[in-house]
This record gives sequence, C-alpha cells and structure tokens, in this order.
Amino acid sequence: MKPFIYDYTYEQLKEWMKDNGEPAFRAEQLFQWIYVKRVKDFDQMTNLSKELRQKLEDSFQFVTLEEITKLESKDGTVKFLFGLHDAHAIETVIMRHSYGNSICVTTQVGCRIGCTFCASTLGGLKRNLTAGEIVAQVVTAQQMLDATEERVSSIVIMGSGEPFENYDATLAFLRIMIHEKGLHIGQRHITVSTSGIVPSMYKFADENTQINLALSIHAPNDKLRSKLMPVNRRFPFEDVMEACRYYLAKTGRRITFEYALIGGVNDRPEHAEELAEVLKDLLCHVNLIPVNHVPERNYVRTPRNDIFEFARILENKGINVTIRREQGHDIAAACGQLRAKHMESTAR
Ligand code: SF4
Repeated sequence: MKPFIYDYTYEQLKEWMKDNGEPAFRAEQLFQWIYVKRVKDFDQMTNLSKELRQKLEDSFQFVTLEEITKLESKDGTVKFLFGLHDAHAIETVIMRHSYGNSICVTTQVGCRIGCTFCASTLGGLKRNLTAGEIVAQVVTAQQMLDATEERVSSIVIMGSGEPFENYDATLAFLRIMIHEKGLHIGQRHITVSTSGIVPSMYKFADENTQINLALSIHAPNDKLRSKLMPVNRRFPFEDVMEACRYYLAKTGRRITFEYALIGGVNDRPEHAEELAEVLKDLLCHVNLIPVNHVPERNYVRTPRNDIFEFARILENKGINVTIRREQGHDIAAACGQLRAKHMESTAR
C-alpha cells in the first residue's frame, strides 16, 4: 500500500523533494495544494510539472474517509462515523461555539485504556491511526465548512483513543496542523487530552509547544481513580500529579483537569473538597463533565443541583471551574457511542 500524503510533515515533504531532485519550494506548493486549496488529486496541482505530479501519484495516496453516518444536532453539532480503508470505523465531531468551530478528532480505532464510563473502550484497541488518518478528519471537516465559508478554529484531541499511546502519529499530526503554510491552526487553540500516560506527559512537556494539555483526572485520589480508570494502576495518581507539576514548571501553561461526574460514585461534596486540596497550588482549570448514560456500565447521571454544588465547592477554594455544555445530546455524541452501535449492527 502506498503511504498517505497526509502522513508527511512539511519538513518530511521537503526532504522527499530533495531526494527526488526537486527544489525545496516545491514542498511549499504541494502543502498549499493539499491544505489551503484542499485538492485531493495530484493532477490538479497545475504549478507542479507533469513528471512531478506523476511521481507523487506513484508514491503516495490520499486518505479516503467514507462517510458511513452523518448526524446533525439541533445545536449545530455534526457527528461523523467514517469508514477507513480496512473496514474499521472512527468518529469525528464538529462542535459549533460562539467563538468558532471546534473539531474533536480520534487517534486510535477503539481504546485499551478501559475507563469504566466510556463506550470507546468496550471492544478494546483495534489499531493506531496514522498521522494522516487523523489529519484527514480535520481536512474533511474543513471541506464541509468550506461550503459556508467557515473555518476550523480549534481542535481537541479527545475522541476515541489515548493520543499519548500513539505519540509519534499525534505529534506529526500536530506539526501538520500548526504549520503556517498549511491549515495554520493556532497552537493555543489545540488541546491534547490524556488519561495520564506519565512518560509521554514528560516528553510532551519537553516538546516546547504552546499546545494545551488536558488531564482526565476523574477522581480525587488513587483508590477511586483506579476503580474508574484501570490505567491508574499502571501510572499511579501521585506519579501523574508529579508529571503535571513538571509540565507546569516547564511550560508555564495552565492544565485543564477533566472530571466526569458519575452519580453517587465521584460526585459527593467530600470528593470536591479532596479535589480542591489536590489542585490547590496548581495553575489549572477544572472542566466538569456530567456523564452520559452508558447502559453497559450502569452509571447514573449526577443531579443538576449536585453538579452546581460540586462546582461551588471548588470555586470557593479558588479553583477555576466550568461545567461542560452538553452538545449533540440528541445525536448520541458521547465518545464511542456511534461506533459501538455500528459495530453491533455489522456483527449481526
Ligand atoms: S475516555 Fe478516552 S482514554 Fe478513557 S477509555 Fe475512553 S477513549 Fe480511552
């Protein structure tokens, strides 16, 4: 199989041009065709010679995402289920905010992390996506937005999968997204969310980017976190917090702590008090996410008043808090739900 052209960073394309006897500026032209004009056919790249176009055609292919399902919510959220070349399916979501359009991308087919409130992990990990397969999700979303002259203004890596278990592809994806000759998404408008893969958190801190980090914390202590997130047995709570402190010292950038509220499990006032104590000296922000019902797990939703009470306790301790606005509730927008339904129906 030919490699995907979207897998290649700008610097790698420059190298490729050099190896093929072409001047470096051809990489810039190619990058613009791919990401600015969003052309998916080498033959349309008319400022490249016929020979070069043929060489590109012989050497690369474009990622094709087959649209299996497209659901549009009343609030503007669009959720795609895309089929890949090997018959796997992935989800991508476009969210409409007052400040722009945000894309939530997937980095793995399935996930092996096993968070107990998440549908994405139910069938385990099938495979990593390549950088180009992650890039293709943004390009496809941008092509849809082109029709109304809108643009992708921010990216969250919060779809299915653990990006830090597919580290190299995720980093290559980020480099492609932020490159000034391509889509040029502002680094501060991109967030990578991890369940706490400690060695990769240190590595990411050392990358020296302006990209935001979010940590899925979901519990205020080691014992409860291990119950909700088996990954905590591999990377214990205190080690994850130490990696957060390293990231803060190294980058000076605020961390977002994602906290999925599960009725009666981690949403009591004492949990909020304990969380406030853990986070008290950190430059951070807490994002509370009332969980959607995952039937397989039997979790119930936290009552509205308890959500506000949890937020109030954190705020009173000086912690910055938001409650995630629910988007796409009418179209099963929670991570992994659409794919799970698809897997069920294809297995029948
Ligand atoms: S929440 Fe994220 S890391 Fe956890 S199982 Fe789901 S996809 Fe994997």
